[in-house]
Amino acid sequence: MENTEKQCPYCAEVIKKEAVICKHCGHDLQTGQPSDSLRLENRPVVEIVKPAKAASTISDGVKLGCGMFIILPIIIVVIIIVIIAIAMAGAGA
Ligand SMILES: [Zn+2]
Repeated sequence: MENTEKQCPYCAEVIKKEAVICKHCGHDLQTGQPSDSLRLENRPVVEIVKPAKAASTISDGVKLGCGMFIILPIIIVVIIIVIIAIAMAGAGA
């Protein structure tokens, strides 16, 4: 064992002294967490994919919202015209 190396307390394999995670068993040498920590490092990659999908659904929602913003004023204008027509009819009679 060289001076730059040490023995993993979990699997007894020789690893680098600066090693944070044992390359043999995957144990986190600082927290003592088991090999799950290696899988944890892969999780953000999955989470990066998910927001991309979420962003696409948000943009779809924005498109839908834009459609609503076009339809909504038309409905309001129609309602105003109907109210004016009723008011005019009421004033005429
Ligand atoms: Zn180990």
